[in-house]
Amino acid sequence: MKFTSAHTVRFLQLLFSLTLLTGLTYAQRSAIPADNRAAIREADIKRDLFAIAGDHFRGREAGTLDELKASVWIAEQMRAMGLEPAGDDGTYFQFFHIQRTRITETSRLSIGNHKLTHGQDAFILAPAIASVDAPLVFVGQGTPEDLAKVDIKGKAVALEFSGTAPAELSYRRFLFGTMTRRANELIKAGALAVIWVSNKDAQFYFERWTTGLERGRYDLPGGPNTRVFSQAPTVWLPADVLDWIKQPGQQFTNVVNVESFNYPSVNIVGKIPGTDPKLKNEYVLFSTHQDHDGVRRAVAGDSIWNGADDNGTGCAAVLAIGRAFAQKPAKRSALIVFHGAEERGLLGSRYYSANPTVPRESIVAVLNGEMMGRNAPDSAALLGSQPPHLNSVALVNSALAANQSLTKFKLDTLWDRADHPEGWYFRSDHLPYARLNIPAICFTSLLHPDYHTPKDEPERINIQKLTNMTRWMYLTGWTVANRAERPDLVKDFKLER
Ligand SMILES: [Zn+2]
Repeated sequence: MKFTSAHTVRFLQLLFSLTLLTGLTYAQRSAIPADNRAAIREADIKRDLFAIAGDHFRGREAGTLDELKASVWIAEQMRAMGLEPAGDDGTYFQFFHIQRTRITETSRLSIGNHKLTHGQDAFILAPAIASVDAPLVFVGQGTPEDLAKVDIKGKAVALEFSGTAPAELSYRRFLFGTMTRRANELIKAGALAVIWVSNKDAQFYFERWTTGLERGRYDLPGGPNTRVFSQAPTVWLPADVLDWIKQPGQQFTNVVNVESFNYPSVNIVGKIPGTDPKLKNEYVLFSTHQDHDGVRRAVAGDSIWNGADDNGTGCAAVLAIGRAFAQKPAKRSALIVFHGAEERGLLGSRYYSANPTVPRESIVAVLNGEMMGRNAPDSAALLGSQPPHLNSVALVNSALAANQSLTKFKLDTLWDRADHPEGWYFRSDHLPYARLNIPAICFTSLLHPDYHTPKDEPERINIQKLTNMTRWMYLTGWTVANRAERPDLVKDFKLER
């Protein structure tokens, strides 16, 4: 993560002039009652973080008992602190179905006399039905010269991955993008299957970044990722097959079947009614997600992917914010929403924003907390703070003012940019709300090397930083919940994708 002060200064100047234009005066600010920031305590945050991200909840994978158990635990915390249930049927819960489409266990894959198992020593990139029995040709790195030497029609084509990521793409995106695009080209040219062999760089990702491929695709029922189709297979293999895959005269055989089924995930919803007779009908929504990646392949002997930063930190923060509001409510109501199945494609927030348990137009702002306890203690980022992601000037101003007066984080300005290779803005629960024209921002301390690995453990979280991030998020929400006007929506707000 990089911080450039020049960007921030220019941006703050721009926002300052916007503030003047929107007429936010000192008088309006001073009308906000004294906040309850003292209720946000390091000890509570540490206890909740270690509980939610401990091995007991086994990584809280969406659609499993582990996610449900963690969700019941969260609801119990809400009950204990005095939040009113605001889910379905008078409970804290809003259950919904997620649909999973995956390759069946009986699917078979072999090259010569080597039997391979999807999810272990091979990954089939897309869960699609396929039945192939074809001679294998190895074409080196698949350069035009390599390909000119062979006829690939009716063959299974094996090649070694190569190349470096261009500046605008992360390696992970480059890798998956290239494997898919080039496989499609070869299949178009007559190949019946494409087999990628990892080089050194790709091997690193083969060992760590295959979680999505193991599990298959997820969506809400009826969504685009629930479609089952047939497709020539693209297979990804580890680097050590290079020794034997080059041998001529081998046959590639592949019988892949796909199954699709529904199972439940859950959002957890509580509220603290506002004190103003009129404004209590409007809600400031504090958002996070309780799920992570569950129990998966072991890395260095550890198979529990705890998701402490992602998103035990968000959970501990939102619980602390709920506690502060329960002790001292604001004029507007506070709505606390833990989203399920975020890691499977923002499914809980897509579901809740489409089926909110309060009138959608009564949600005045969404403040999302995602990964809030790593990296430099004095740096953080606010997603949704610059165009085209900026959808409410007043909301962003509240966050910047809260930071200036209280937490004084140096704000990163690169990760919220439309041209940032990670596309970070598109990867958490504020997004579905922003798409529905609800003012939305996300508080985050950004990526780190333990992201989506079993090393994302509670011991690695900077609790003091997390507490400060929580106070920043709380104070922003407190201001928004007490101001006379609801936050504006930027005219003609339109995301780049
Ligand atoms: Zn997350």
